[in-house]
Amino acid sequence: MVGGIDGVQDFRSASTADFRGALVGWIDDRRTELKPPYRDHGTTDEILSHQRGVQRLLFDHGFMRWGWPAEVGGLGGSPLFRAVLGEELTSRGLVHSAAFSMTEVLGPAVIAYADSTLAAQVVPSMLRGDETWCQGFSEPEAGSDLGSLRTTALRDGTDWVLQGQKLWTSWAHHAARCIVLARTEGPETGSRGISAFFVDMDSPGIGVHPLETMAGVDEFCETFFDEVRVPAGRMLGGQGQGWQVAQHILACERGPIFWQRASWLLYHLGEIAESADPADSEAQHLIGSAFADVSALRARSRSTQLQVAAGDLRGAESSVDKILIATADQAVFNAALHVLPGVVEFDDSPIADRYRKEWAYSRAATIYGGTSEIQRDIVASRLLHLPKVP
Ligand SMILES: Cc1cc2nc3c(=O)[nH]c(=O)nc-3n(C[C@H](O)[C@H](O)[C@H](O)COP(=O)(O)OP(=O)(O)OC[C@H]3O[C@@H](n4cnc5c(N)ncnc54)[C@H](O)[C@@H]3O)c2cc1C
Repeated sequence: MVGGIDGVQDFRSASTADFRGALVGWIDDRRTELKPPYRDHGTTDEILSHQRGVQRLLFDHGFMRWGWPAEVGGLGGSPLFRAVLGEELTSRGLVHSAAFSMTEVLGPAVIAYADSTLAAQVVPSMLRGDETWCQGFSEPEAGSDLGSLRTTALRDGTDWVLQGQKLWTSWAHHAARCIVLARTEGPETGSRGISAFFVDMDSPGIGVHPLETMAGVDEFCETFFDEVRVPAGRMLGGQGQGWQVAQHILACERGPIFWQRASWLLYHLGEIAESADPADSEAQHLIGSAFADVSALRARSRSTQLQVAAGDLRGAESSVDKILIATADQAVFNAALHVLPGVVEFDDSPIADRYRKEWAYSRAATIYGGTSEIQRDIVASRLLHLPKVP
């Protein structure tokens, strides 16, 4: 400790090892307070409410602020502290890895592209868990082909007026804000005619309808925008820069956040390994092979974290991380299916509920953030420069 800052320990020049040491001590002292109150998977309501409580505690003790710039309520220090924080919480099963999907995916884009007064106002509320944000990109016929989206934004005086429909908007029914991609130029302009807006979810004209996934979780929604007025100052970047904002968000969504998810996977793989029969060679093979997949992801993710901390967020490279997470995620929960036969499929116990939902969610790993086919296409064309099939 170099001295105090805002009443908390000062890590501005600390190493990640020192930060980790202090954090782990703090977590150990508060295990009971940080532990989820539910033993099963938890509903979306329960997960988000627990996550908000943990974020508030972390923010008020400074840990949620380290690694973020002072201009948006952070305390500075290495951005790697954010990865350490996520790792130490998820590897103990204290918060769901989804907790970091919003802060680490949407936070950096708002800092980079929002008006600085707006960013200073909203980012601290998001970090403290006082508000949840969501990402309004996908539409009924615009997922992989995002550039063909049809939601429009027309200028009217000092406002933009949004009209259209989004699909698969995670946590929209709990969100206070949404980053919405909308077309400010005609359809013939493709991705060049798209702008990004930071929209208040309580604006008149927004309709949100939750959808239940095959895991029985109401994570995402259909989100409708019917003549929704958005002040011009809420545009992220300039007019027509929405694609740039989207690429920034996708680069975060496909790469840096998987460090936390890998820790969450290791936590579960540890539980699975403890339940496995040492004489069951198939179980040992599945667990060993899943461990190798998670280790490959962690090795890749470590270099991604170092690159991003050095200010080098890469677009196409993040597709490699995205392919690796999909493989590792499915390998871990496939191992669970074998080690807990019949339990995952039919049992009503809290552990069955947790593994059933995690297994089902792992199927989505080849879809969310861009499908594995699209990621392989990006790797082939933009990293390996392979010729296109005529
Ligand atoms: C759990 C989860 C959470 C999500 N959260 C959000 C969110 O918060 N906000 C948001 O905006 N979206 C979200 N999504 C949506 C997600 O981004 C899209 O589902 C994804 O981009 C794929 O789009 P699509 O579903 O329209 O499938 P499509 O694009 O219709 O693809 C269907 C199939 O065709 C294949 N395909 C399509 N084009 C090609 C091609 N050119 N080459 C090869 N194969 C191709 C795909 O790989 C896929 O297998 C979420 C999805 C999931 C599963």
